[in-house]
Amino acid sequence: MSYYYAGCVDYQEPHFLDACHLCRKPLGFNSDIFMYRGNTPFCSKECRQEQIEIDEAKERSWKKSSSSSSARKSESKNTATNKTVRTGTVAVA
Ligand SMILES: [Zn+2]
Repeated sequence: MSYYYAGCVDYQEPHFLDACHLCRKPLGFNSDIFMYRGNTPFCSKECRQEQIEIDEAKERSWKKSSSSSSARKSESKNTATNKTVRTGTVAVA
């Protein structure tokens, strides 16, 4: 049983790398695999570059949200929505 389990664990790692992270194209054993951030496989430089750009855009928006705080913005939006609902209820009542 422990043999079987160990085999499963061994099999999981290559299985994780068998498809491009971006376009899900299967990665064959003989095809080139472009790694990014250590454990994210891509079928081509283009796919990897796209993921890098996506990540950079994310990082930029994170930085933006930490400085101008889009989290707070959406919070106040929720408060405004609650107020609107309450006002509406009051108006109806
Ligand atoms: Zn790809």
